[in-house]
Amino acid sequence: MKSAASYKGNKKNLPSKPCQVCGKDMTWRKAWAKNWEQVLYCSEACKKNKTSNKST
Ligand SMILES: [Zn+2]
Repeated sequence: MKSAASYKGNKKNLPSKPCQVCGKDMTWRKAWAKNWEQVLYCSEACKKNKTSNKST
């Protein structure tokens, strides 16, 4: 058995979505809690690789 997790074993319920560039599944991170809606890329590399480059 693993040591008792303080997280209630709810990890599988974390949201996830595919990276807009590489399609890799990104699992919700605490660091993204405040801007999860705006997280589109799994990494800085993908952010730079995004093809659409129009400035709003
Ligand atoms: Zn990516």
